[in-house]
Amino acid sequence: MLRITRVLAPNADMYTLDGTNTWVVGADPSIVIDPGPEIPSHLEELARVAGRVAFVLVTHDHPDHAPGAAALAQLAGAPLHAWRLKGAERIRDHQAFDGGGFSLTAVHTPGHSSDHVVFHESGEGALFTGDAVVGRGTSFIDPPDGDLTQYLRSLKLMQELAPRTIYPGHGPVVFRAQDKLREYVEHRAERERQVLAALGSGPRSIDDMVQEIYAGYPAEVLPLAARSVLAHLLKLEGEGSAARDGKADGAAWSVAVPRECARCGKPVKGRARYCSICSLIILQEGETGAAADA
Ligand SMILES: [Zn+2]
Ligand SMILES: [Zn+2]
Repeated sequence: MLRITRVLAPNADMYTLDGTNTWVVGADPSIVIDPGPEIPSHLEELARVAGRVAFVLVTHDHPDHAPGAAALAQLAGAPLHAWRLKGAERIRDHQAFDGGGFSLTAVHTPGHSSDHVVFHESGEGALFTGDAVVGRGTSFIDPPDGDLTQYLRSLKLMQELAPRTIYPGHGPVVFRAQDKLREYVEHRAERERQVLAALGSGPRSIDDMVQEIYAGYPAEVLPLAARSVLAHLLKLEGEGSAARDGKADGAAWSVAVPRECARCGKPVKGRARYCSICSLIILQEGETGAAADA
């Protein structure tokens, strides 16, 4: 049985729930995941709990996960690996990290942030998810480094790993990993339906939609909710289902009216005049006559 110990960082706030979970996996040598902020008392306790350390790993470079990593790596005399972190060796997708009698595999799971990785231990079905899945509530997607389309793809990747237990970056351990992942997928689909419904009544600002979708929520969470609605709108825009007038926060968003390809009549994504196949044909055959029409 693989020993997995949580050392909770003393950095509780609105974003981190009870604080950041630093995971000490296995022993002799152990692997430490997400040392958290650079808090000396936390790093000393980690070094004590972790004993001999093979690797210090980081799920992503956010300030509640990564800044203490270099100091811990130095304290423990172990190499530091991350997808994107100054002073760390760059993690490759599916790279394996061996500890004492176990192995963790890194899987790139962008979405919460573009550099996010999770670590999978297949023997026990343990998945260390950082902020991609948290023990309570949902993962926060803040564009542009956060990307909902990528996030949904990453959720699918995590489902394919078929984990038994999720060890999240915040909140309690999740013992029904598959149920949790399914809940996450359904939650995003439900939010998308709400965003589309809010859009339905005409051009609207994000603030307007947030007031409607998050009616009854405390005012403090509304700025975060606005980022989340923006993430949904950008996904819908990418799929050709939403369009905006104006830039950034002041934009008015509306449902995109499906357009027909001016050449073949099939539906076209976004504001393009031709579908991608016809665009290619026009480019190759130089059908400029068609383009000059209308
Ligand atoms: Zn984060
Ligand atoms: Zn976090």
